[in-house]
Parts: sequence; C-alpha cells; structure tokens
Amino acid sequence: MEKIKFVCPSCGSLMGLEEIMCDVVQSTTFDYIDIMGFEIDYTHSSTDGGVVDRFQCVECGYILTNSNGTEIIDTEDLCAWLMANNMIEHT
Ligand SMILES: [Zn+2]
Repeated sequence: MEKIKFVCPSCGSLMGLEEIMCDVVQSTTFDYIDIMGFEIDYTHSSTDGGVVDRFQCVECGYILTNSNGTEIIDTEDLCAWLMANNMIEHT
C-alpha cells in the first residue's frame, strides 16, 4: 500500500479523495434510536456490492477524469492519475 497525498487540482484542498459508489446494499445493526428525531444509530453499518460512480475531492466535489475527459471509475486508472500527478508518497 502506498500513501496518497491528494491535492485537489480545482480548490487546492488537502482534505482528501473520496470514492462514491451507487447501488450499494447497506446493513446496520443498532441498539439506539432517537425517539424525537426518528433516527436510528448508524454507527455500526456495513456495505455490500455496489459500483464505483466516481472519485472526487472531499472538499469541493471535483471529479477526477482521464486524459480524454471521461470520469475515472476504476482503480487502475485512478493509480495512473495519482502517479501522473505526483500524488503518491513513496516511503
Ligand atoms: Zn477540491
């Protein structure tokens, strides 16, 4: 594993990168419920399945794209992008 040192090309934020998935099945085990706000406690959640929709800046939502302008949706392209932009920290 290599450490990512993400600097957003759009806003310059160092807050990091996030993977956005869709069609995910989430399951939550809960012992607590907010009886005023009608919310269960989502502390113990896990996700299953799903497909990558995009990789984006946590701060501004800037979406990473390939050189041809299409959104990056696989980790091989993501690695290539990070390396091309010098955002992998070799220790
Ligand atoms: Zn950003």
